[in-house]
Amino acid sequence: MNEPKYKRVVLKLSGEALAGGNEYGISQETLNSIAKQVEQVKDAGVDVAIVVGGGNIWRGVAGSAKGMDRATADYMGMLATVINSLALQDALENHGVDTRVQTAIEMRQIAEPYIRRKSIRHIEKGRVVIFAAGTGNPYFSTDTTAALRAAEVEAEVILMAKKVDGVFDSDPVQNPGAKMYKELSYIEVLNKGLGVMDSTAASLCMDNKIPLIVFNLNQEGNILKAVMGKAIGTYVGR
Ligand code: UDP
Repeated sequence: MNEPKYKRVVLKLSGEALAGGNEYGISQETLNSIAKQVEQVKDAGVDVAIVVGGGNIWRGVAGSAKGMDRATADYMGMLATVINSLALQDALENHGVDTRVQTAIEMRQIAEPYIRRKSIRHIEKGRVVIFAAGTGNPYFSTDTTAALRAAEVEAEVILMAKKVDGVFDSDPVQNPGAKMYKELSYIEVLNKGLGVMDSTAASLCMDNKIPLIVFNLNQEGNILKAVMGKAIGTYVGR
């Protein structure tokens, strides 16, 4: 087998990605498919860290739109990412992948607190580290968490798993004629207002020169293809 292009990656899974075909909750079938794909990538000798979202359970913005205090609603969102992280940990361990969950909000009975040096040590030992509770701060997103943690653990790329094939010029679900970009720069993402990630996350990636591959999670084997450097989805860099 060819050598992987990337030796260390951060995989960003949205909460939506865990819900499978459903709007809410966690699909066991999807968890198993993700676990199988992560196992393949580990077998190829790649270091993997995962950032999980929480949108399948709760989004802070939605709560605040209904009148809830924004920071409180965001803390609820961060707790949702912990639920998803535990579900993912369980699925990965069922596939024989050694994992640790590290959370940015301390809850010692459930997971380790986030300690950068410890994360790196786990990764070096071949464990998959799952970063839970986002950055630990309200008003941020798990996309920003992925950018931050990728910089902190010196990952070479962020693999952003979506339900669609890549980044399009308009919503491919609404508009069947939408065109997919093969390559973009972060400044184009920001200027065109493309909904790849929020602007805080895009700026952090741009400033720290962390490339991003946006790809379809529903096609099994795509995570491996991405780490092997096969041209899938949309590459965002420069
Ligand atoms: N969140 C937050 N700070 C963070 C990360 C997440 O406050 O650093 C909250 C925020 O309310 C967000 C929710 O957690 O809506 C779930 O995260 P996100 O929306 O990024 O999940 P995804 O869209 O990836 O499922």
